[in-house]
Amino acid sequence: MSADRETAVVEAVGKELFIGGKWVPATGGKTFPVLDPSTGATLCEVADASPEDGKAALDAAVAAQADWANHPPRERGEILRRAYDLLLARADDLALLMTLEMGKPVAEARGEITYAAEFFRWFAEEAVRIDGGYAVAPNGVGRFLVTKQPVGPAILITPWNFPMAMGTRKIGPAVAAGCTSVIKPAAQTPLSMLALAGILAEAGLPEGVLNVVTTSSSGSVMEPMIRDGRARKLSFTGSTAVGRKLLEQCADKVLRTSMELGGNAPFLVFDDADLDAAIDGAMQAKMRNIGEACTAANRFYVQRGIADEFARRLTERMEALPMGRGTEDGVIVGPLIDRAAVEKVSSLVADAADRGAKVLTGGSTVDGPGNFYQATVLTDVPPEAKLASEEIFGPVAPISVFDTEEEAVAAANDTEYGLVSYLYTSDLKRALRVSERLEAGMIGLNQGIVSNPAAPFGGIKQSGLGREGGTVGIDEFLETKYIAVSL
Ligand code: NAP
Repeated sequence: MSADRETAVVEAVGKELFIGGKWVPATGGKTFPVLDPSTGATLCEVADASPEDGKAALDAAVAAQADWANHPPRERGEILRRAYDLLLARADDLALLMTLEMGKPVAEARGEITYAAEFFRWFAEEAVRIDGGYAVAPNGVGRFLVTKQPVGPAILITPWNFPMAMGTRKIGPAVAAGCTSVIKPAAQTPLSMLALAGILAEAGLPEGVLNVVTTSSSGSVMEPMIRDGRARKLSFTGSTAVGRKLLEQCADKVLRTSMELGGNAPFLVFDDADLDAAIDGAMQAKMRNIGEACTAANRFYVQRGIADEFARRLTERMEALPMGRGTEDGVIVGPLIDRAAVEKVSSLVADAADRGAKVLTGGSTVDGPGNFYQATVLTDVPPEAKLASEEIFGPVAPISVFDTEEEAVAAANDTEYGLVSYLYTSDLKRALRVSERLEAGMIGLNQGIVSNPAAPFGGIKQSGLGREGGTVGIDEFLETKYIAVSL
């Protein structure tokens, strides 16, 4: 990848706040740097919003709400459809931009652009399918009319790990439902969202319908907006710790909330599984996004009869993964997002090793520049190791052995999280029995990736509230109104 092309894709993006359809500087012209995690170099500076800027963005969303709610659903859908086309037409540049700010290999970033765009295509189709009802009351006299209306202005907060798709997964249904919004991307990866704002404006999204606020102080800018009361919805994707805090802030004005939070996915392999498929699935579930995914397999539980072979084959595959800057051809293991992430992964691996886990491959940081950690496989991981209960968010596969189905299900469910569980078996009865018993919002049955814009994505327990995508995704931005009719 040439340095000139890298500079060009960064230069092409608006670096100011996007408020009321205009690019505006932050109060006092403040900016903060965006870094390349593979080198530590500064890519550019972007506007650093203050609480006043946040209020201005909310003002713009509130001002645009009534008109937008009355916009014909077909037109709302067509804007999303045009944005879908533009995203695909510019996928190569957008993928490079994402790799520069986030680190994932450019082929994976390209995959994320397609995935992200699909949310716009899906919700373009959903915009015209908002349904209602008409029913006879049980007493035979009255009638019930049921209609759905936009919730109102929404605040959207997204993480750094999927800088584009976590945005389109919220903006798609908000736009389709007739909600205006203010979105705040993570400070580490604001460029993809700023590029998306430009694309949506080009696709014809009216002024004020989407506003983008970038800031280095998310807490102090977002809390007043949440507590303001004019936004009626918060849709958040991020860690459970921050999600809890935001739920408290929402309680004050009783905002509708959607919470896509952390995960601690178990990956169960029974000894009747197709081992080739299980290894392929394990690689996808572990190494998608360098392990920095809420859906990442965090704990592997393998039945005793195949445990050694599984560990040997997974180790071979992990050892062979090329590491490097995500812009280089063939790289699979890019850098982690920052130094703190490398230190966290290192300390989790050290803790597991101290408690008796064996390191089959990897287990070390890589000398800088950049935030690299080796693809790692651990076996004999005891249940009390910290990585059995905390999100690793890195390229580390800890394996434990089980004997019985009962033991596997108990270990899998022994977590406060409940986002996704993976299960490999060729016994249909066991597949359904275990799927029903696993405490998770999603199950990967003989497959290592569950994400699909047409399917309901989300978790139970402390992994979240609500669903994104699928036919239910738009409901997160709609209120049901019932009109009691007397004949
Ligand atoms: P995070 O620290 O919770 O941050 C997520 C977003 O919240 C960022 O935009 C962040 O902004 C913002 N934020 C942080 N503190 C805030 C506060 N006090 N008030 C308002 N906003 C605040 O999570 P992350 O490290 O970016 O992302 C990784 C986490 O997201 C993992 O736990 C992962 O499992 C989860 N995740 C879940 C899903 C899902 O669908 N369930 C999908 C992807 C990721 P700044 O970073 O700029 O402070």
